[in-house]
Amino acid sequence: MAWVFSGVVLDGAAGDRVVAGTGEPEELPGRYALAGLVDAHAHPTVATDERGPYLADGAYGAARLEDYAASGVTVIRDAGGLSQVTVSFAGTAVAGRPVVTAAGRFLAPAGRYFPRMHVPVAPDELIAAIQAEVAAGAAWVKIIGDFPRWEEDGPVPGTTAATYDLGCLRQAVDAAHAAGARVAVHSNLPDSGLAGIGADSIEHGRALGHRELEALGARGGAWTPTLCAMLQHRDSPDPAARARAGELRERLRDCLPYAVAHGVRVLAGTDVAGTIAEEIALLAGHGLTPGQAIAAAGSLARDFLGIHPAGDIVTYDQDPREDPGVLASPAAVVVRGVRVR
Ligand SMILES: [Zn+2]
Repeated sequence: MAWVFSGVVLDGAAGDRVVAGTGEPEELPGRYALAGLVDAHAHPTVATDERGPYLADGAYGAARLEDYAASGVTVIRDAGGLSQVTVSFAGTAVAGRPVVTAAGRFLAPAGRYFPRMHVPVAPDELIAAIQAEVAAGAAWVKIIGDFPRWEEDGPVPGTTAATYDLGCLRQAVDAAHAAGARVAVHSNLPDSGLAGIGADSIEHGRALGHRELEALGARGGAWTPTLCAMLQHRDSPDPAARARAGELRERLRDCLPYAVAHGVRVLAGTDVAGTIAEEIALLAGHGLTPGQAIAAAGSLARDFLGIHPAGDIVTYDQDPREDPGVLASPAAVVVRGVRVR
């Protein structure tokens, strides 16, 4: 089947007609189309229960990939998980399944990450661990750059600190690059120096300041603010939590457009909260134009990741630039020539 879209093609793609697949032509519903959406911070192998996040199995991951596809996501950057599963997703093209680029395992020392999500990596083991992940097929490396101390009962409030020292991290980033991989670093502390270790993307980055964003932009780096996750308490019944979220939102409304203006590639990533449609709407609600917010999950993300699959079309009945909420209800989704919705 050759799926045909005729209408308004958005986000930099040219023309008013797109065809995906081969064979008998069939018209898709919808009046507006994107060449697929990119979730640049996803965890297909991470599940959550009452004790928090944990690493699930390959069947869970495969089912999650189907959910992503149905939501219009056709490219995923896995930001850490069960390495053998995510790396095998990345290495195996399956019809109708999003393209995956995988970051392998979460890299953090003992007591500085969710205990069910990682096997601890001591500072003197970090480079070897990175080389092993890349040799196994990881195109990205995920380093937890700062995190609260984790004890029996969970994270200890007020203990967020660097996990590895900056010298160790610089060597780790260099080793990843030498092995041919790129580096994503989880960072939430202000002025931690993590923006300066040469990592390709900063994940979360809730405390990034102007000087760090300027440096990140100058070297073509990316920032995935994961707003669905970062702002998950924005409607909390607890007034103190709501007030903290409100302060953060003010900062983001300043820092996100500042980042874009200074060359930072702002990427849309859902983490383990929310949907790509919500993430794009939040980006548009915190200082990006609707076009920039869509590009964060579209053309800009594909260019940054260097992934441009053929045969992806997502269509909508209304214009998502007028109302990003439209992105929650695609009229049709075609993933590499296969219609999945
Ligand atoms: Zn994450």
